[in-house]
Amino acid sequence: MSLDQSQLSKLTKNLDRNYNSLLEEVRDELEMPEHQRYIDLIDRGPADTADEAIGDALADINLAIIDRHIREIRDIEAARGRIKDGSFGTCVDCGNEIGFERLQAYPTAKRCYVCQQQREKLYANQRTHTL
Ligand SMILES: [Zn+2]
Repeated sequence: MSLDQSQLSKLTKNLDRNYNSLLEEVRDELEMPEHQRYIDLIDRGPADTADEAIGDALADINLAIIDRHIREIRDIEAARGRIKDGSFGTCVDCGNEIGFERLQAYPTAKRCYVCQQQREKLYANQRTHTL
């Protein structure tokens, strides 16, 4: 790993800060259901099936938001693991350095810019095929 100690501790601090704010957001989301959406759904839904549909819709909304945060939390935990085992900052695809600047912007990055671009292109193609 080519990152020096001060760069590494800076990135570790970024990860910790993101991690804590994500946990806080998840906590808030669990405590505060989206009241406005709930009201909109009541206004739109047919009266006899409304209760069940709203419950399902709310569960879906909350899960989608929380699920995204949980993935980000897992990404941070994985990045911490890579810091421990010394593979942090190395691209998982080509083995080149990811680079400090990219890591500052995306501390959980597993790939260098080039490999990430390639992966996103692949992913975009797959999506258009399934649509
Ligand atoms: Zn790469």
